[in-house]
Amino acid sequence: MSPALPASEEFSYRNHRLHCEDVALDELATRFGTPLYVYSRHAIEAAYNAYASALDGRPALICYAVKANSNLAVLDVLARLGAGFDIVSGGELARVLAAGGDANKVVFSGVGKSEAEIVTALKAGIACFNVESNSELDRIDAAAQKLNLRARVSLRVNPDIDARTHPHISTGLKNNKFGVAYADTLALCRRAAAKPAIDLLGLGCHIGSQITEIAPYIEAVDRIIDLIDALVREKIELRHIDLGGGLGIRYRDELPPLVSDLVSALLARLDARGQRDKTVVVEPGRSIVGNAGVLLTRVEYLKPGDSKNFAIVDAAMNDLIRPAMYDAWMNVVPVVPRSLERRVYDIVGPVCESADWLARDRALALEPGDILAIAGAGAYSMAMSSNYNARPRPAEVMIDRTHAHCVRSRETVEELFATESCLP
Ligand SMILES: *Cc1c(COP(=O)(O)O)cnc(C)c1O
Repeated sequence: MSPALPASEEFSYRNHRLHCEDVALDELATRFGTPLYVYSRHAIEAAYNAYASALDGRPALICYAVKANSNLAVLDVLARLGAGFDIVSGGELARVLAAGGDANKVVFSGVGKSEAEIVTALKAGIACFNVESNSELDRIDAAAQKLNLRARVSLRVNPDIDARTHPHISTGLKNNKFGVAYADTLALCRRAAAKPAIDLLGLGCHIGSQITEIAPYIEAVDRIIDLIDALVREKIELRHIDLGGGLGIRYRDELPPLVSDLVSALLARLDARGQRDKTVVVEPGRSIVGNAGVLLTRVEYLKPGDSKNFAIVDAAMNDLIRPAMYDAWMNVVPVVPRSLERRVYDIVGPVCESADWLARDRALALEPGDILAIAGAGAYSMAMSSNYNARPRPAEVMIDRTHAHCVRSRETVEELFATESCLP
C-alpha cells in the first residue's frame, strides 16, 4: 500500500515509486544528489490557471507573491502564462525582470521600501506601489517628482481582521506591523489624492497566510468597500481593489476553500456592493506553488532510543525552516516504500540546534540510505533557506513531463565564503 500524499496530483506512486509527473524521484536523488527540491511545472500551471479561470471575464491582475518561491524557472513558468508579480524588495524585482516578467504587472508591497528600491521600481514602470504608511507615501511622491514620473499607488489597509491562522503569519490585525491603520486610511487617501506625482489607484489588504476560511476575506473586503464608498462621497474615485493572497493549502487535513469558491464569493460581494467596475488584484503565493514542490532527503542514520527513535536525514532546518519556525506539520513519505514493520520516528537534521527537526512522531519503515519526500515544500521552503552551519543549499529541479531541468545547481562550500576575506 502506498502512503497517502495530500499534495498535488502531479505527485503519485507508480509501481511503488513516487513520481513527479513522469519522473521517478529516486532517480532524481541519484542523479542530482540530496537534499533536493523538486517542482512540478504542471502543478504550478494548474494552480495559476485556477485563479485565471475564476477571474475570467473580469478586469483582473493575478500577482504571484514572489517571496513564496523566487526561483527564476518558477517565475518564468508564471510569466509565460501572463502572470503579474507581487514583490517585497528590489531583489525580487530584479528576479522578475531576469525571468522575463512584465514590470507593468508588478505590485510592490512591504513596510520598508528603501529610497533606492523606490527609484528602481519607478524607473522600471511598475504597475503600483502598495503603500503602507504616511512617510512612505511622502518618499514615493518625492522620488517620482525628482524623476519627473508619476507613481501609481494603492494603500494597503490594515482592516483589523482575525484571519484565524498562526500568529506568525497573521498580518491583518491592529497589532501587526502591516498596513495603514483602518482609522487613518481616509485621511491618507486625501493626502495621496492631493500629491502632485501620485496617482491613487486603489485600496487593498493582505490579512495573513494559510487561511482556510472564506469569511475573513469577506469581512476584509466589506471593510475596504466601506472606505471606497466614503471616498466616492468626497469625489475620490478608485479603480482597483487588491484582495491580497493568503489562501491556505492542504498540508495534512486542512480543508481550505477551492480557489474557484473563494474568488466567486469575493466577486459576488463586490458585485452586490456596486464594485463591478473595479480591477481585481490578487496576490497568491502559497496556493500557487506550495503543493507543487517536495524536498527529497536521504536517511543517514537511524538512532533508536528509549523514549524516542530518531531518523537523522541529510536535510535540516537551514534547508526547510517551516517546522522549526511555525511548528508546521509537513507530510513525510518514503519515495520507495518498504514492507518492513513501521516504527515511530522523529525526522531530524544534522544542524546543531534542538529546533532542527523536520517532522515528529511519524510511523515509517526505514533503512539508512532510504530517500524520503517532504511534501508541500514548494512555498516558503527553499525561499527561506540559509547557510547556517556552513551548509551549501540544495539544488532545485523543475519537472516538465519526462524532463528534469536543473534550475539551480547545488551550492559549493567554496561559494559560501567566496566574498569573505581574512585580515591582511
Ligand atoms: C506574503 C504575501 C502574499 C502571499 O501570501 P500567501 O499566503 O503565500 O498567498 C501576498 N501579499 C503580500 C503583501 C504578502 O506579504
